[in-house]
Amino acid sequence: MRIDVLTLFPAMFSGPFDESIIKRAQDRGLAQVHLHNIRDFTHDRHHIVDDYPYGGGAGMVLKPEPVFEALQSVRSALVDVVPVVALMTPQGQRFEQSMAEELAKAPWLVLLCGHYEGVDERIRQHMVDREISVGDYVLTGGELPAMVVLDAVVRLIPGVMGSADSAGDESFSSGLLEYPHYTRPSDFMGWKTPDVLLSGHHAEVAKWRRRQALIRTAQRRPDLLAENPITAEEREWLAEALEEGQGLSPA
Ligand code: SAM
Repeated sequence: MRIDVLTLFPAMFSGPFDESIIKRAQDRGLAQVHLHNIRDFTHDRHHIVDDYPYGGGAGMVLKPEPVFEALQSVRSALVDVVPVVALMTPQGQRFEQSMAEELAKAPWLVLLCGHYEGVDERIRQHMVDREISVGDYVLTGGELPAMVVLDAVVRLIPGVMGSADSAGDESFSSGLLEYPHYTRPSDFMGWKTPDVLLSGHHAEVAKWRRRQALIRTAQRRPDLLAENPITAEEREWLAEALEEGQGLSPA
C-alpha cells in the first residue's frame, strides 16, 4: 500500500513513523509512506500558504494553489492507480474501525492535512474523495488525525502484524469490545488469573472470552451490542449474567 501525506509540518511525523508497526510495515515493504510539504508548492519568495478569508472574520485559510499543485504532483507519481484522497476535517465522517478496514483495502491513500481555519472550500469540492474526522473536537491541524488514520489502517495490511488473526478479535472488528487479557505471572500481588485461562481447554477458553466480550460490551458500549447480532441464547445468558452481577467488573 502507498500512502502520501500532504502537510505543512512533515517533521511532526518523524517520531510515530519511525517506530513500531508503521516502521516495521515500511521496512518489510508492505507500506510505503511519502511525506510532502505543501509549502514546497508555493512560488513566491516567502512561501506563503495562507490568506485572509473572503468576507472577513477571524483566522486564515489554506490557499488553494499550493494544495492543488501538491495533489497534482502526488497523483502523477503513479499513472495506473487511482488514489483515495482523504481530507482531515472535523466536519468529515467519523473515523471508525470499519472505515479503517475499508481504507486498508485501497492500494493508494492520500491524506491531506488542513491547518488554520481549514483548506479553501474549492479543494474540498473538487479534489477530495472523502472527508475524515477523528472525533467531535477541533485540533490545530490535520497531522494528528492523519497519524491516527495511518496507524489504524497500516496495522490492518496483511502481514504487518505478527499473527495473521491478531486484528480479527480486536475491539470493534468483531462488533464487540475485546475480552480481557492476562499474562504471566498467573498470580500477581495476590491478583489471580481466571482458572479457565490456565486450563489449556481451548473450547472453554473461547467460550469464556466470548462471554467476557459480551459482558464488557454490554457494560461499556451497549450501543454496539444493539447494532450487532448475538444469538438468542447469548442474549438470554447475558441478561441473566447482568442481573446476577456475574463476572462483572466496575465499568
Ligand atoms: N475551522 C474548522 C472548523 O471549524 O471546522 C476547523 C479548522 S482546524 C483548527 C484546522 C485543521 O485541523 C482542519 O483543517 C483539519 O485538517 C484538522 N482537524 C482539526 N480537528 C480535526 C478533527 N476532529 N478531525 C480531523 N481533522 C481535524
